Amino acid sequence: MNVLLMGPPGAGKGTQADLIKDRYPIPHISTGDMFREAVSTGTELGKEAKKYMDSGKLVPDEVTIGIVQERLAQDDCKEGFLLDGFPRTVKQAEALDQVLAKLGKKVEAAINITVPEDILYERMSGRISCKDCKTVYHLKFNPPAKAGICDKCGGELIQRSDDQGDTVKRRLEVYAEQTNPLIEYYEKQGVLNDIDGNRDSQAVFADIVKVMESL
Ligand code: ADP
Ligand code: AMP
Repeated sequence: MNVLLMGPPGAGKGTQADLIKDRYPIPHISTGDMFREAVSTGTELGKEAKKYMDSGKLVPDEVTIGIVQERLAQDDCKEGFLLDGFPRTVKQAEALDQVLAKLGKKVEAAINITVPEDILYERMSGRISCKDCKTVYHLKFNPPAKAGICDKCGGELIQRSDDQGDTVKRRLEVYAEQTNPLIEYYEKQGVLNDIDGNRDSQAVFADIVKVMESL
């Protein structure tokens, strides 16, 4: 199963990826998580990525394509993968097709989670996640049992710096300009599946399962 999870920031990609990986034995590859990990460990990649992430811009294609290419070549991707937040530009999508062709693979499904913009603002402004295990919550829609503490591991819950202030607006603009054209790209390939993400997470997941089962 070679699957992409697409949709604007805040659409619920990470939330759905958690449900998918519990059901299907494929690795969840989130470029956003990879960059955040690099930022928190202070690597050169992290220092470079932080400049772009803090202002709501995309990390340059060459950098992003490079880390995904390396990740897809790893053994655990042999039976498939779930890419979350990549590709985000047409250049990245073309590079992904080339990388996969060399590995004798192709994208089998692009799952596009759609959510109205006002709801995206609400979701991003209330998002909190565990500093340690990265589990995602929402202050209103999916609060932890104990305020500020992760239900799963007891870690501290924090707000992402790019979910604050003007950065949220910038990220949605960047999505509209640079990532939205990918919908047509995958529609042309005949692999696009639009899913209404403005529903309860389990209802969204049920529709995603239908797509996964059709592969
Ligand atoms: P993405 O990975 O697409 O940026 P997330 O999965 O992190 O999005 O979700 C963004 C925020 O919205 C989180 O706080 C999450 O708890 C919340 N959320 C995700 N899916 C839903 C849903 N179906 N209904 C309500 N809130 C949701
Ligand atoms: P996300 O966690 O997917 O919302 O990503 C957080 C941030 O990481 C984005 O706003 C970008 O700055 C960066 N990022 C993640 N994925 C990509 C990508 N495919 N291309 C460029 N930048 C990315």
